[in-house]
Amino acid sequence: MIKAMEFSETATNEIQKCLGCLKPFCDGCPAKTHIRDAIKLIKEGRELEAGAMLFRNNPLSAVCGAVCPAYKFCNPTCIRFNRGMGVDFNAIENEVSKKFLDSDFKFEREVNANPKRFLIIGAGAVGLSLSFYLSVAGHSATVIDNNEKVGGMMRYGIPDCRLDKTLFDKIQAKLESVGVKFEMKTTADLVNIEKYLDKFDKVIVSTGAWESKKLGISGEERDNVFGAIEFLAAAHNALPKFADGEVVAVIGGGDTAIDCALTVKVANPKSRAIIVYYKDANSLKCAPRERQMAKTMGVEFKFDSSTKKIDERGLVFENGETLNCDKIVVAIGQNKPQFKTENPNIFFAGDCKNGTQTIVECVAQAQEIFNLLSDNKN
Ligand SMILES: Cc1cc2nc3c(=O)[nH]c(=O)nc-3n(C[C@H](O)[C@H](O)[C@H](O)COP(=O)(O)OP(=O)(O)OC[C@H]3O[C@@H](n4cnc5c(N)ncnc54)[C@H](O)[C@@H]3O)c2cc1C
Ligand code: SF4
Repeated sequence: MIKAMEFSETATNEIQKCLGCLKPFCDGCPAKTHIRDAIKLIKEGRELEAGAMLFRNNPLSAVCGAVCPAYKFCNPTCIRFNRGMGVDFNAIENEVSKKFLDSDFKFEREVNANPKRFLIIGAGAVGLSLSFYLSVAGHSATVIDNNEKVGGMMRYGIPDCRLDKTLFDKIQAKLESVGVKFEMKTTADLVNIEKYLDKFDKVIVSTGAWESKKLGISGEERDNVFGAIEFLAAAHNALPKFADGEVVAVIGGGDTAIDCALTVKVANPKSRAIIVYYKDANSLKCAPRERQMAKTMGVEFKFDSSTKKIDERGLVFENGETLNCDKIVVAIGQNKPQFKTENPNIFFAGDCKNGTQTIVECVAQAQEIFNLLSDNKN
């Protein structure tokens, strides 16, 4: 029996769609989320166990439930997908995981005969998940991060209208309860990373990719032009002020561009946010859900418009057209940082290694590193 009262109508519908296949096909999650087993537990009224199972596999399950682009991963692998009945696990995962985070369930630390000291630089998707896996396995895991609060890009990049940031405080509390130590507002010396091996057996660098790419065109240095990451991180601390009718052009066609445009509309719904993309509408790289959200909030789109330069009017396109605007945000991706070490006890993971990706792919990399480090040879 589904406890319909405890789930939203959306989640209840998705739970009901699941056939509980003997051999589940829904294996498209990079972090290997056990969708069938979680839904089975929920159907049996064992939501807390389902939440614990999801968290044990992916401590960011509540976050993934809210913002994971599941349409790329697990949704299409459901056996009912081709008949338009594919189970959308997002809503279920988000609700059951939030309930779990509000519970006082505590994970047991395993007894480890050969515990090691791990330093993880960066409290983002990789740092949070890896520190949890290591700590539960009986190792010592210390996470340092230069921000005030944990969550990395998920907290400081993704706008509040898409993700409830209080989740990170609850996730942090669960991690601390198994022994993860956090040292926030602490900047690691990434030039001399080896020095940390004096105090730690292994160092994992998961510092993300926080430098916005530049267009490399004339006028980009003007003081009304901002990089997307700097714009979003500043907005996290205090929403920017835009006058009624003020025009903000956001150059780009991915999730980051959408997030910048959403931020403008949240700051002042009467301002104008225009996403300027050099390709057509079908080539947008953002998730359909986010695109719909942007449309609902009144974000405008200008397609097939390649920016040639920026001047006092705003954007000047290759075809000679112009777009008058007051502010410009450049959201065309991030540069990967460069590191100079080949020390076998230093590992790199997440966006700082692979460029911008998704939260669930970062969790999958944390799982891979954990498996590698758990190997007796390491
Ligand atoms: C705007 C935006 C929206 C996104 N939306 C989604 C989405 O909807 N769904 C999705 O799945 N993915 C999304 N992503 C991608 C996802 O957020 C990232 O792939 C993921 O969070 C990266 O995790 P990470 O652990 O590699 O690094 P980060 O999350 O970037 O964490 C790195 C941490 O290290 C800290 N750090 C850096 N240098 C140092 C130093 N020297 N010392 C100490 N600390 C340091 C940083 O401040 C940061 O807190 C989005 C990305 C962006 C930019
Ligand atoms: S493949 Fe679809 S229907 Fe079958 S167990 Fe997985 S989610 Fe349920």
